[in-house]
Amino acid sequence: MNYARFLTAVSAARKPSPIRVLTELQQRSPPSLISLAGGVPNPNTFPFQSASIALKDGGSITFDDAIMRKALQYSASPGMPELLGWMKDMQKRLHDPPTTLAQREMCVTSGSQEGLGKVFEMLVRPGDNVLLDAPTYSGTLAALKPLGCNLISVPSDQHGMIPGALREVLSRWDPAEVHQPGSTAPRVLYTIPNGGNPTGASMTTQRKREVYELAQRYDMLIVEDDPYYFLQFEKPWVPTFLSMDVDGRILRTDSFSKILSSGLRIGFVTGPKPLVDRVVLHIQASTMHTSSFTQLMVSELLHRWGQEGFLHHINEVIDFYRTQRNALIFSADKWLKGLAEWHVPSAGMFLWLRLKGVPDTMKLVMEKALDKEVLLVPGNAFMIDSSEPCPYVRAAFSLSTPQQMDEAFRRLSLLIKEAL
Ligand code: PMP
Repeated sequence: MNYARFLTAVSAARKPSPIRVLTELQQRSPPSLISLAGGVPNPNTFPFQSASIALKDGGSITFDDAIMRKALQYSASPGMPELLGWMKDMQKRLHDPPTTLAQREMCVTSGSQEGLGKVFEMLVRPGDNVLLDAPTYSGTLAALKPLGCNLISVPSDQHGMIPGALREVLSRWDPAEVHQPGSTAPRVLYTIPNGGNPTGASMTTQRKREVYELAQRYDMLIVEDDPYYFLQFEKPWVPTFLSMDVDGRILRTDSFSKILSSGLRIGFVTGPKPLVDRVVLHIQASTMHTSSFTQLMVSELLHRWGQEGFLHHINEVIDFYRTQRNALIFSADKWLKGLAEWHVPSAGMFLWLRLKGVPDTMKLVMEKALDKEVLLVPGNAFMIDSSEPCPYVRAAFSLSTPQQMDEAFRRLSLLIKEAL
C-alpha cells in the first residue's frame, strides 16, 4: 500500500530526534560501551531506592536496584522491549494477523487515548471527510473535531456500523477515482467494534468482513479502537479487524485501562510499520515515551503471570462485568419498561437508553436529575453535533453496586414520569 497518500503534512514532516535515536542505541548496547553521548541524568542522584508492590493474589512485584534504575530513567519512544515483546506475542495468539511481523509494528502509548490522538493527527487534514458510527466516544470527537475535518456518521444499530449504510454513504464517490488529486473520498474510518462507548454495540464477524471489503474498495484505513475487546462477555470472542487485515489497512488501539489499571496509562497502537513509525516520531517530540516505571510494573506482572495467568485474570474481570451488566438489566426491566428502550450489551460497561417522551435528556439530567440524586451522561455528549436535542442517556455499570443501580433506575423512572 502507498501510505504516503494518507499522511498529513505535519506527520510527513516529522524527522527522528537524533538524541532519541542515540538513547535507543545505547539501551541496546553491551555494558562495556562507554557513552558520553546521551544527556540522561545520573540515577544515583534520584531519591528512590526500591519498590515492592503487593498483588491481590498474595504475591508481589519487587523492583530491585537494577530494575529501579531502569524504571526511573528515560526509555525508548516505541516502548520498553520487555513489555512490547510480551504484548506482541499475546497479540499474535489472540489475533494472528495475516501481515508479517516485518510489515506490522506496535508501540506503547500513554493509554489508547494518546494513540488515537496521534493517529488522527497523522491522518486527518482540515476539510477531510472522516467516517464514524456516531454516537461515539466523546474523547474521539474531542480529538477529531479541532482538526477541522468533516465527520460523516454511518448509521449503526446494536451490532455497530451497518455495512449497507456504509455502502450507501460511500456511493457518493467512484472507487476508481479515490486516488485522483483533489478527491474528497474519505481515507479514514473510525469505529469501536466491541462494547461501544456509549452504545454498548458490538460488531459481528460478517459486518466486519463487509466493512473491511468496502475499505479495500475505497482504499481506506480503519482505526479499530478496541478498549473493550477484553470485556466481551461471551466466548468465542469475535475476530478483530486486525485478524482480517491482509492489506495492512488497520490501525488498532488496545488499552489496559479497563483490565489492569486506567491510572497507569498503558495502551498500544498496532498497524502498518510505516504508520506506527510516524506515531513514534510524534511520541519522540511530545511525551518522549510512556512512563518507564509503569511500563516495567505492568511488564513484570505480565511476565510473572504468563499468557495463561493474564487470560485467567481477564476471565475474572469479565465475570465481574457480566454480573454487573445482568444486575443493571434486571433493574432496567424492573423500573424502566415502557419508559425507555435499550439493547442488552454483550461487551463493555455501558447501557445506552432512549428515554420515551423525553426529546432532550440534557435538560433532564442537568436540571432535574441532580435534585433526584441520580447522574447519567446525556446522549448529546456523544453526538457529532452536541447542540442538537438527544433522547438518549448513557448508564455505566462499572462502579455502582447492584443495589445502587437499582435505586438509580428507580429514581430515573420517577424523573421520566415527571417529564411526561
Ligand atoms: N476509546 C474508547 C472507546 C474509550 O471508551 C476510552 C476510555 N473511556 C478510550 C479510548 C481511552 O482509554 P485509555 O486512554 O484509558 O486507554
